[in-house]
Amino acid sequence: PPSAAEPAALAERRKTRQLMVGPVGVGSDHPISVQSMTTTVTSDVNSTLQQIAELTASGCDIVRVACPTGDDAEALPAIARKSQIPVIADIHFQPKYVFAAIEAGCAAVRVNPGNIKKFDDKVGEIAQAAKEHGTPVRIGVNAGSLDKRLLQKHGKATPEALAESALWEASLFAEHDFHDLKISVKHNDPVVMIRAYELLAESCDYPLHLGVTEAGPAFQGTVKSAVAFGALLRQGIGDTIRVSLSAPPAEEAKVGGQILQSLGLRPRKLEIVSCPSCGRAQVDVYKLADEVTAGLEGMEVPLRVAVMGCVVNGPGEAREADLGVASGNGKGQIFVKGEVIKTVPESKIVETLIDEAMKIAEDLEPG
Ligand code: SF4
Repeated sequence: PPSAAEPAALAERRKTRQLMVGPVGVGSDHPISVQSMTTTVTSDVNSTLQQIAELTASGCDIVRVACPTGDDAEALPAIARKSQIPVIADIHFQPKYVFAAIEAGCAAVRVNPGNIKKFDDKVGEIAQAAKEHGTPVRIGVNAGSLDKRLLQKHGKATPEALAESALWEASLFAEHDFHDLKISVKHNDPVVMIRAYELLAESCDYPLHLGVTEAGPAFQGTVKSAVAFGALLRQGIGDTIRVSLSAPPAEEAKVGGQILQSLGLRPRKLEIVSCPSCGRAQVDVYKLADEVTAGLEGMEVPLRVAVMGCVVNGPGEAREADLGVASGNGKGQIFVKGEVIKTVPESKIVETLIDEAMKIAEDLEPG
């Protein structure tokens, strides 16, 4: 059978250059990493570090912090030093903060060429400083701040315009013999975004950071991002991902991790197989599934738990999972590794499943 890391259904990863964002390898030789961005005022070092700790616990691999002011730039050394995961400084408008971030020991800098005045003239200096410190640069093109020249040429932020903007800036870095680049071309429309990344993937071998920008509140943003990333990851395109949600960043990291787990691109941890319930359900499946999910949250071992409402598909799914319940007549048959170990009343299903999950987890290595 295919391994979890290379499911047969996905195309091989697009071959890219490799780079290191702190200790995290980025590119086709490395696992796809999940990013998010803090929402605290960066200069509030304690709050920012607190949020980074929450992100780390939520499965985030790399964090980005905004750097709009001199106070934020001054906070970067402490944040970069104390963060558990590599910190990327996100710079718009002020090239001086690019240099400050590099000096501060940030693991990378993200620049948006579309809103840094005369960016092209500064590429040489940025390349020089980044080279001296071994700092990779992300060229982060965004539909909302596309380079005016490209906007005039293409009329709007088309896939071609987004890709051309990023490739132009990358070529300027290449002229200075700087290639430690990662590229993103974000758009709020998954259809435009997918095409832009496909164009980039055909035209360069830089690692790509995927994102649907301004994707919206949690529900819409999750769906948009999952669909767009799925379409690209299916083709082997994408080396880092960020789910943008109008929701706390830890949610972004969880959704990002779940997208990768769903495609088998990150080891699966807890997986709840629960039925949607229907007129045949003889227990409250929603409640059971929610309570089991909450009770097992944070479990670090691969564990498949089936929560099924009746005997139609219940015994089959419960038998296939590590652990499961098939319900009927207000009772639950508890399955462990395919065998019925006991039958308990509905009120005891959740606690029995959690107890049994804990026993199985003790025998499993973290996934
Ligand atoms: Fe309905 Fe039973 Fe299937 Fe759940 S397992 S959806 S209750 S038929």
